[in-house]
Amino acid sequence: LSGKLGEVFDRLRRRGSLSEADVTEALREIRLALLDADVALPVVKDFIATVKEKAVGAEVLRSVSPGQMVVKIVNDALVEALGGAVVPVNLLAPSPIPILMVGLQGSGKTTTSGKLALRLRTRERKKVLLASLDTQRPAAQLQLEQLAQRAEVASLPIIAGQTPLQIAQRAMDVARREVFDVVILDTAGRLSIDAALMEEVKSIRFAVNPVETLLVVDAMTGQDAVTTATAFNQALGITGIVMTRLDGDARGGAALSMRAVTGAPIKLAGTGEKLDALDEFNPERIAGRILGMGDIVGLVERAAQNIDQAEAEKLAKRMAKGKFDLDDYASQLKQISKMGSLSGILGMLPGVGKIKKQIEDANLDTTMFKRQAAIISSMTKAERRNPDLLKASRKKRVAAGSGTSVQEVNKLLKQFDDMSTMMKRMNKAGGQEAMMRQMQ
Ligand code: GDP
Ligand code: MG
Repeated sequence: LSGKLGEVFDRLRRRGSLSEADVTEALREIRLALLDADVALPVVKDFIATVKEKAVGAEVLRSVSPGQMVVKIVNDALVEALGGAVVPVNLLAPSPIPILMVGLQGSGKTTTSGKLALRLRTRERKKVLLASLDTQRPAAQLQLEQLAQRAEVASLPIIAGQTPLQIAQRAMDVARREVFDVVILDTAGRLSIDAALMEEVKSIRFAVNPVETLLVVDAMTGQDAVTTATAFNQALGITGIVMTRLDGDARGGAALSMRAVTGAPIKLAGTGEKLDALDEFNPERIAGRILGMGDIVGLVERAAQNIDQAEAEKLAKRMAKGKFDLDDYASQLKQISKMGSLSGILGMLPGVGKIKKQIEDANLDTTMFKRQAAIISSMTKAERRNPDLLKASRKKRVAAGSGTSVQEVNKLLKQFDDMSTMMKRMNKAGGQEAMMRQMQ
C-alpha cells in the first residue's frame, strides 16, 4: 500500500457533482415517467422531493451525463421505496398458520390462493388447506376446489348455507384437527369498497387472527390503488400486498403508491394465469419497469463498475507489492484525514462494501487518524520500519511524545498489524485477484 491511494480518492472527488439545475431538469422527466406508470400524484410529489434532496451535490461518475446520473439515483431510491429486498410470506408462527386473502372482485384472490398453496406445498413442504369464504358467487367455492385439486392440496369440504365467518372457523377447526401447517382463506370481493364488505372481512380478520393478511391488487389498477390500499389497511391492517397481472402491460406504478400509503411490503407478484405463475416480488425489477429507463440505469451501473474495477486494480497492485510499514500507514492516515470520513469516500466506490465495513467496524474516525499520525511521527525511523522494536519503555516514550497514552499506541500497533495481516493473506491467496474478490 502506498500514499497513492489518496490520489485515487482525490480524482474521484474531483469528477464533479450534480447541481440543482441538473437535478431539477432530470427530475422533470422522471416525474412524467412515474405518472405515466400510474404512480399516484401525491406519492410522485413526495418521492421527487426526497430524491431531489439526495441527488443535489451527489458525485457524477466519469463517462455518464448528469441526467443519467440522476436517473440512476432515482432508480436506487425507487428500489428502496419499493422495499429494497424481497420480503417472504411469514411462516414463522405456530401451525396452523392462517393466511387471509383480501381485495376487490376480480383482482386475482382466488387464483393467487391456489398459486400460493402450490408454492407453499412444493417449495416450503407445507401441508396446506384452502378454504373459500366466498358465498357471493355460487361458482366461487367450486373454482377454489378445482384449483386445490390442480395444486394437489386439500380444500375445505363445501357445506351450503354457512356464513363466511362460520366457514373460516370451520377451516381453522379442521386444520387444527388434521394438523395442517397453513390455511389459506380466500374471501369474496366487491367491485368497489363498501361498508358491508369491510365489516364482513373485519369479523373474519378478528375471529381467526391471521398471520398474514394479504391484499391482492391488479397491477392495472392505476390511481385507484391508493384508495383501495388505504381502505383495506385501515380496516384490517394488511401485512403484505400481492400484485397480479404483472405479465400484462401495466408498468406497476401502483406498487409504489400502495407501499407508500400502507407501508406494507409487496410480497408476491402474479405473472400469468397458470398455477405456477407466482414470483417473489423483486423491487429492482419493478423499479426498472416503473421507470422504463433500464438502459440508462444499466449504463451508469456499467460506468460505475468500470471505474470501480480500474481503481480497485490499481489499489490491488500497490498492495500486492508488499512492503508495508508504519511510514506507509502514516502517509495513508494523513491523506485520509485531509479528505474527511474514509467510509464516505469509500462509499463512492460501489464495490468496496466489504472493506468499508471492516473500516467502520474498526471505528476509524478522522480524529483518531490524526492522533495515530502523531503517534507514528513520535517514533524513530527504525521503529517505524520495524514496529517489533516497540517494547514497553519505547511505547511510553512515544505516548508521551505524541500526547497520547500507551493504550492508544497499542491500539495503533494492533490496527497496523491487522492491516498487514489482511494484506499478507490477500497476497498469499493470489494477490490481485484475491484482493478484487475481497472488494466485491
Ligand atoms: P378474484 O375475484 O379476486 O378471486 O379473482 P380471480 O382469482 O377469480 O381472477 C380473475 C381473473 O384474473 C381470472 O381469469 C384469472 O385467471 C386472472 N388472473 C389472476 N391473476 C393473474 C395474473 O397474475 N396474470 C394474468 N394474466 N391473469 C391473472
Ligand atoms: Mg375469487
